Amino acid sequence: MPIDFEFTEEQQMFRDTIRDFGENEIAPLVEDAEKNEKFPREIFPKLGEMGFLGISFPEEYGGVGLDKLTECIFAEEMGRINAGIAMCINAHTSLSCVPVHKFGTDEQKKKYLIPGIEGKVIGALGLTEPDAGSDARSIRATATKKDGRYYLNGTKTWITNGTMADFVIVAAYTDKSKKGTGISLFIVDSDAPGFTEKNKIHKLGHRSADTAELVFENCEIPEENLLVGEGGFNGAMDTLLGARITHAAKSVGLSQAAFEFALRYSKEREAFGKHISKFQAISFKLAEMAVKIETARLLVYKAAWLYSNDRKALKEASMAKLHAAEVVQWVATEAVQVLGGYGYGVEFPVERYYRDAKLASITEGTSEIQHIVIARELGI
Ligand SMILES: Cc1cc2nc3c(=O)[nH]c(=O)nc-3n(C[C@H](O)[C@H](O)[C@H](O)COP(=O)(O)OP(=O)(O)OC[C@H]3O[C@@H](n4cnc5c(N)ncnc54)[C@H](O)[C@@H]3O)c2cc1C
Repeated sequence: MPIDFEFTEEQQMFRDTIRDFGENEIAPLVEDAEKNEKFPREIFPKLGEMGFLGISFPEEYGGVGLDKLTECIFAEEMGRINAGIAMCINAHTSLSCVPVHKFGTDEQKKKYLIPGIEGKVIGALGLTEPDAGSDARSIRATATKKDGRYYLNGTKTWITNGTMADFVIVAAYTDKSKKGTGISLFIVDSDAPGFTEKNKIHKLGHRSADTAELVFENCEIPEENLLVGEGGFNGAMDTLLGARITHAAKSVGLSQAAFEFALRYSKEREAFGKHISKFQAISFKLAEMAVKIETARLLVYKAAWLYSNDRKALKEASMAKLHAAEVVQWVATEAVQVLGGYGYGVEFPVERYYRDAKLASITEGTSEIQHIVIARELGI
């Protein structure tokens, strides 16, 4: 099969529409969202109406039925507009709607997936706990079955969409004797009795993203809200590979934003009688940025292509995620340098890009964990 580096006409049109939407509907909300650390929830139904929340879901659920690459184009464009907002959208689609689509019953799809694609309800994934992040098998949350209901106890932390989500997919042990394989997933409604606390977490970057600690005390979950079946966590988590690819696409978009700003600035700012872009030290930096971004983008697109074509994409997804995370941190740091003092001030968005970039190597599996996955796939 020949390699084709061109977008289809449909993908190109999609990119143009997304860019227009991002620049006209989302960008004006960013400053306020960042300042008040509040996600602009009102964009969700609009995103739903435009089909952006259902890009790769089948039409029978209200999706658009396109591929992972098109979803990456969307994530990239959102990352270019604002990383925090992009993260919340990705947590909703890739971390919450995808598991419901892949493993949900017809009833669960009707209740959570269809309105999720419409942007009428928002989802979150609650896996991380105060004492367990990378080592997911060490979570302490438990769900005990009694009289046709499960009772969930535990604390989840760093949960994206945590305070605003209408449902959270929560991982908890249903059988503590089976380390790792005894973990199950539950769809927990935000108004479930015993869902006692939603505490907002303040962060270095991604300030427009909604991040929270969630507390469950004998939280009542109807039996029909079990996702996959008891012990189904491990199998389900493999599907979250897709979220890693879109996360990487978001990092590419953020890199692109930092690069574009630095490039523009370098052509306007003068020092020693000429534009700073004319200094080789600056132009080489910008050239290097362009190269690094392009390598990250190509890795993302390749991983997306493999994923969409049902090929094994574990190594490539981790490579894309790892590399895009390294690139975005480097590019954002260098963008600050190109702006000099103005890069450090809050007048321009570059300081925000710099703060936002750091997260790329932490969420959706840290960079250390991506190295482990890649090494394992190399047979080491
Ligand atoms: C803004 C934000 C949003 C988030 N959103 C969500 C969400 O929506 N849902 C959710 O469930 N979680 C979420 N998380 C949590 C995130 O997934 C975890 O922070 C991440 O998995 C790392 O876990 P940890 O923070 O507990 O770090 P730890 O696992 O304690 O790791 C600490 C350090 O040790 C390293 N390390 C750990 N194990 C190894 C190893 N075996 N070999 C080498 N190094 C290792 C790590 O790479 C890291 O550098 C979010 C986090 C943040 C900051």
